[in-house]
Amino acid sequence: MKDAHRLPTWEGPKPDEVGETVEDFLQKLGRPSLLWFPGKDSSRTRAFSTLLHGNESSGVRALHRWIKEGHEPAVNLLCFIGVVHAILTEPFFSTRSVPGWRDLNRCFRPPFEGPDGAIAESLLLEFRSVKPEALIDVHNTSGRSPAYGVTTRGGRQQEFLTSLFSDHLVVTDLQLGALMEATEHDWPTVTIECGGANNHLSHEVAYQGFARYASAESLQHATPGVTVVHHPLRVEIRPGSTIVYGTERRAGTDLCLPLDVDLFNFGILTFQDSLGWVGPKGLDVLYTKDAQGCDRSREIFSIHEQTLRLVKPSRIMMATTRQDIAQSDCLFYVLPVQ
Ligand SMILES: [Zn+2]
Repeated sequence: MKDAHRLPTWEGPKPDEVGETVEDFLQKLGRPSLLWFPGKDSSRTRAFSTLLHGNESSGVRALHRWIKEGHEPAVNLLCFIGVVHAILTEPFFSTRSVPGWRDLNRCFRPPFEGPDGAIAESLLLEFRSVKPEALIDVHNTSGRSPAYGVTTRGGRQQEFLTSLFSDHLVVTDLQLGALMEATEHDWPTVTIECGGANNHLSHEVAYQGFARYASAESLQHATPGVTVVHHPLRVEIRPGSTIVYGTERRAGTDLCLPLDVDLFNFGILTFQDSLGWVGPKGLDVLYTKDAQGCDRSREIFSIHEQTLRLVKPSRIMMATTRQDIAQSDCLFYVLPVQ
């Protein structure tokens, strides 16, 4: 690990030191940073991470508000704030990644190359050195969505961590290089998607959840009422195919999804529902990936007069309406419910 990528750590930031606004706070940090808060019980530590994506502000807003309110956590907290320097050019919180970097939440596996890989490696070393009893990584969805948790290892503790923010937990074994995959074997880890990026309700969900995480005496409670969804399939567009969003089939494009496809999120759709429209490539435009990397598109989808339909009733999750994210990352996740 190169020293240039060591993460600066701010020990015990005080309410009057972190700026009036979250933008002031991030300008003071200036780069990816750690914050350390000593707890009432200093023998235990919890880890928290946010802003791995620069356009997802709810987590850092929650942390800033919590610091301004002058709380003391139940146990030590080690908090990471990610691509700070990506958001410092106005408009704030408009850029997902630092220009020239990869998506930071795809960098948490070897080889840890480049400046983004070095940050990821440093963070893992810092977290491992304090042996936290849990890690929560807070994100926002790019489309409208209820809040939900994502984990690679389902279990009682992951359900409890999710319940601090939401009542839905998605268990997925897809390996993307995300932070949670790197730490799941060491301590319970969940990613929280606390709703759409530009929604004040999402900021409130993140704040309430973070405040509960910081003040909880124990993370061992039973949590009835969390709905757990196992292993949804990740639907991507095949390279070289084009996607647009609209209200009807568009000539010359391979796939058109509804402008409000994010309204499907966490709902169950049937064969009756139109998911969008395909061009001459038909289902070959989609890659519906299971954990083994196999394409399950023909089991999941059918085409009826160029309309994309489901074969069986299925839950749609994590649908984005951002064309750039759809093209480069993922359209949505799908899981048959029978
Ligand atoms: Zn994110």
